[in-house]
Amino acid sequence: MEEICSVAWRKAQKGEQAGWKLLLWTAVAAFVFGLIQLGEVPEDMLRVARNKVHSHKASGDIVFVAVDDRSLREIGRWPWPRRKHAELIDRLSQTGVKRTFLDIIIHGRSERTDDDLLVSSIEKARNVTLAVSARSVTGSVSNPDLLPPIIFSRHAKLGLINFAYNYQNAVWRIDYSRKVGSNQVPSFAGKLANAAPKPGQTFILDYSVDPSTVPVVAAVDVLAGRFNPRMLKGKDVVIGTASDGIGDQYFIPGWGKMPGAYVHILGAETLKSGTPRYLGWFPALLLGLGACWLATKRKSAGQVSFILGAAALLLTLGPVGLEMNLIYADVTPALFAVMIVSTVLAGRRWRQRGLVNTVSGLPNLSALRANKMGQDQALIAARILNYAEIVATLPADQERQLVDQIVSRLRVGAANRTLYEGDGGIFAWFEDSSQPVGNHVEALYSLFRNPARVDGQPIDLPISFGVEIGSGRSLANRLASALVAAEEAAHAGLKWKYHDPETLEDAGWKLSMLSQLDSAVDKGEVWVAYQPKLDLKSRQIIGAEALARWTHPEKGPIAASEFIAAAEQHDRIGKLTDFVLEQAVSAAATVNRKQGPFGIAVNLSARLLGDKGFVLRLRAMLARNGLPAHLLTLELTETAALAGSGSGFDMLAALRDIGVNISIDDYGTGLSTLDYLKKIPASEIKIDQSFVKGMLDNRSDLVMVQSTIGLAHSLDRKVVAEGVEQQAVLDALVDMNCDVAQGYVIGRPMSLESLMKRLTSTRRASVA
Ligand code: C2E
Ligand code: CA
Ligand code: CA
Repeated sequence: MEEICSVAWRKAQKGEQAGWKLLLWTAVAAFVFGLIQLGEVPEDMLRVARNKVHSHKASGDIVFVAVDDRSLREIGRWPWPRRKHAELIDRLSQTGVKRTFLDIIIHGRSERTDDDLLVSSIEKARNVTLAVSARSVTGSVSNPDLLPPIIFSRHAKLGLINFAYNYQNAVWRIDYSRKVGSNQVPSFAGKLANAAPKPGQTFILDYSVDPSTVPVVAAVDVLAGRFNPRMLKGKDVVIGTASDGIGDQYFIPGWGKMPGAYVHILGAETLKSGTPRYLGWFPALLLGLGACWLATKRKSAGQVSFILGAAALLLTLGPVGLEMNLIYADVTPALFAVMIVSTVLAGRRWRQRGLVNTVSGLPNLSALRANKMGQDQALIAARILNYAEIVATLPADQERQLVDQIVSRLRVGAANRTLYEGDGGIFAWFEDSSQPVGNHVEALYSLFRNPARVDGQPIDLPISFGVEIGSGRSLANRLASALVAAEEAAHAGLKWKYHDPETLEDAGWKLSMLSQLDSAVDKGEVWVAYQPKLDLKSRQIIGAEALARWTHPEKGPIAASEFIAAAEQHDRIGKLTDFVLEQAVSAAATVNRKQGPFGIAVNLSARLLGDKGFVLRLRAMLARNGLPAHLLTLELTETAALAGSGSGFDMLAALRDIGVNISIDDYGTGLSTLDYLKKIPASEIKIDQSFVKGMLDNRSDLVMVQSTIGLAHSLDRKVVAEGVEQQAVLDALVDMNCDVAQGYVIGRPMSLESLMKRLTSTRRASVA
């Protein structure tokens, strides 16, 4: 119970951490997004769309006098002689316009008479503003300040007409004023709106003003007197060009390409309705992150979608309300954050959906396979034997009822137990393996003797259980084994069954195992364990046997008996032997240097005795590692292979000659006639563990061990007893004059590191 609570707590903690991590990374990403203005294009598009929502008419107080194509056709080609400008100004001032803004650069002098006419018109009108273009740099082109000659400006005001435009040729912001030479010159827009000059500041244009509602009169009509004077009387007038042929056309976001005069007019309309303010992207981002934070806190998919959806909607449309009050904020970094979090959370949910049984909402078997915490626990699988038939007769909505009843029974005694449900009536869970599982499973079994009731109908629920007591294998394998055990229990009419490792030895795996073994050596999945050997006279550890170990990345540890037998039968043992030998010899050399004389035993299949190069390789290996040959013992297995092969015996003799010891392994199980015993130049006989283990309970085993010791000693061979599991057996072996013992009671096969520790502690103990 406590365990489960703490698991739930840890899970919640983990979820919380993941939430914060996501939030932090999102914030960083969105911040960078904002800083480098990645959202410029969508930001502009959103603003244009919103402007359409609240577009409105211009004030009508500013009129555009357009030098349009018709004017050019009727009056003549551009540039017009300055007397035409003079004439225009005269006409307008006679009509009683408030101010005239000439959005045409009067640069340098022209015809004397023309210039004089213009000077006098300006002087007469007393309300003319002339255009100034401040120095600007566009790409590689730098434009100098352009000011009208002093004779014109003497009686005129000056206004700034240039502005910065972006990748689209669109102008989003203009200056209130700018310094030109030594004067602070207000922009046309600022001047038209009579705004304060605010040096160095710009403002955002309100493009919700529909430019087509700005009153326009063609210049030629003004000159010809073809206009309604009321349209111009008391109004401000901007004279500007409006022809593709001349240029000075800009992109007015949302409204298309238009004469530059509109930028001034719309700018002025903006300032007339208030003072635009720009909040930047940070406030919206804070809001977006706030929503993201809320979303990561919610469990239900509906709530998460609602929060994020609402945030996205608020961010895209909310600014409408602000923009109507000339408050501008950028929202794309915030939207970007909301998008990241939505995508990640949706992805997580999607992945989780693959881990849940759709009928019951319980985690499914994929979830079980992914649960690392179950690694050290027993795994129990339950199978409702007739599940498919039951469900076939139930209306669709009642399967859930049935499952609920099964689940509540399986949870008896452990209400918080995490149950996993597979398809077709399979349930599984983890159980503390330090408690006996049998009683628990039998109790569950008896609960299922009572029928379930769905819609008043009794339903029998025959069940069987399979138990896999924790093994190092992967959860996928363990689950499969537990299910097989449950299946076998059902067939055998048992309530439950343990998984039997023997069933693993199926042919398919054996074949693939063989093909994997060579690469396993290269990949470092194979390693060597060392089992200590105890000298029964000195009571000292005098050496160890090297035993190959394979830890498969998916299947976990594979029994040596399993892969070695397969490798030997298919002549694939060579590479493995070389590997173990190399490791063992170098390990022994290390122990030798640090702890004094230490022998090492390595298993050698008699089949390998045909390999001519082996003796030479072995000699070189010993020399390279600096291990004296007499400290190496080769334990010969599969001695039957020696029968009838002369070369095998020759090689054994050669091995003896270089000083290596030979031991006859598994003595008593295979070919062990006295004849062979004499022929094999062994210095040691290793009595097979099957005789040693139970020798105190089995008289014939005891006789076998005793007689072998006598026989070996009479042939001047040492005797090693392996498989010593009890102290009593060890004591009996001492009494029987056995030389060396090996077995679990002395030590299990262990890593080199553990062996070294063991040696240091026991040697220190024996000195003390
Ligand atoms: P083996 O040569 O008879 O090795 C002794 C086996 O008995 C080892 O099993 C060891 O873990 C186990 N054992 C040791 N003490 C006890 C005990 O007190 N009780 C019991 N029940 N078992 C004990 P392991 O490591 O599974 O090896 C199985 C066999 O695989 C070995 O039998 C050996 O024939 C072979 N083998 C292991 N490593 C190699 C190798 O590098 N090369 C070759 N050719 N064969 C190897
Ligand atoms: Ca052995
Ligand atoms: Ca053996």
